[in-house]
This record gives sequence, structure tokens and C-alpha cells, in this order.
Amino acid sequence: MKIIFLGAPGAGKGTQAELVSKRLGIPAISTGAIIREAIKNGTPFGLKAKEIIEKGNLLPDDTVNGLMKERIAEDDCKNGFILDGYPRTIGQAKGLEEMGVEIDAVVNIYVSDEDIIKRMSGRRVCKACGATYHTIYNPTPAEDKNTCGKCGSELIIRADDLPETVKNRLDVYHEQTAVLEDWYSKKGKLLTVEGQEVLDDTTKLTFAALGI
Ligand code: AMP
Repeated sequence: MKIIFLGAPGAGKGTQAELVSKRLGIPAISTGAIIREAIKNGTPFGLKAKEIIEKGNLLPDDTVNGLMKERIAEDDCKNGFILDGYPRTIGQAKGLEEMGVEIDAVVNIYVSDEDIIKRMSGRRVCKACGATYHTIYNPTPAEDKNTCGKCGSELIIRADDLPETVKNRLDVYHEQTAVLEDWYSKKGKLLTVEGQEVLDDTTKLTFAALGI
């Protein structure tokens, strides 16, 4: 299956994408994670991306389309894949079409802006392995709540999860990404799932929507 996850930043699409990935045995590809990895490695691309990402703005369509074209050409994508955070603009949706990718379903995780802001303040990410947690909804299983349950490293708040940036990311979502709900709805691909307070409940709704 080829699945896209849509939803405002903080709606929980990354978490659900990972769970569907495990269930179906196909990779979940997060553009945000690819970009953050380049930043961490200090590549020339990463240096340019850092400024954009920290303000909560989007990278240019051509750059992201190129990045994703390469990624989905890799071997592990042969039997399908999940896109988490791509496409994010009409230009990217068109780019994906031009790559000849036939999408089976688009899962839109809906959460109100007010709830997003509440949720974002609890988001934590592992400094070393990138695992994501939430102080309330998805706490680290580690005894020390400031450390990662997977690798034991320190958990931090991402620069782009800071309140001012979150507000900008939500504006960017409404201005540039929300139009994709309509775009995929017209193609008969959109499945909307109401993001629930409890993570497992959202997962049940997501799996049911996908029929998996
Ligand atoms: P995410 O982890 O998906 O919330 O992405 C974090 C940040 O990476 C976004 O706020 C953007 O700055 C950048 N980014 C991720 N995906 C895209 C995309 N498809 N197009 C442009 N920028 C992106």
C-alpha cells in the first residue's frame, strides 16, 4: 500500500504512521526526520534547511520533491510506503504525481488548533535516536522521564516545538497544506480520522479507516 498521512503539526500523524508501518511492514518516511538528520550531520543542505525549519517555514518544493524522489526509489519502498509530512503543498502533490506514484489512501488526522497547542507543549524528542514522546499522551517508558526509552539518551524540546514557532507552523499548515484535504478528497482518497486524547483510540480509528 502507498499511504499519505496529512494533519497539522502535532496532530499525531508521525506516531500513527509508525504504527501503520509496523503493522504493514512497509517503511514510514518522514520528510521532517530526513531534514533533521541532514541538519545534525551538518551537510550543506542541512545548513540551509536549519534556518527555515527553526522558523517553522517550509523548504522549497523542488528541494523536497528531489529528496523524496530519491528516497522512494530505494529498495525498501518496493512493496509500498507511508509518507509522513509529504506532500505539504499543491506543488509537492503534483511532484508526487509526476513521479508516477499511485496513492491508495490519504489519512487526515484532525485535531483543533487549540488542542494542538496544548499537545505541542508536551512533545519531547530523543537527542540521539530521534524517538518521539509526549509527557502525557505517549510518555517514555524509561524510569527517568527525561530519558529515551529506546536508547537512554536525553529527551529535549525541538526548537520548532517552541510556542512562537508552533503558531507559525499552524499558520503555514492552514495556508499551504490544508488545501490538500480538498485535493485528495476530490480524488476519492481522503479518510479523515479525529485525533483522540488517548493514542490507542486514534490508532484503532486509523486502522479501521484503512481496513487493516
Ligand atoms: P515535521 O517533523 O513533519 O513537522 O517537519 C518539521 C519541519 O521540516 C517543517 O516545519 C518544515 O520546516 C520541514 N518540512 C518537513 N516536511 C516538509 C515538506 N514536505 N515540505 C517542506 N518542508 C518540510
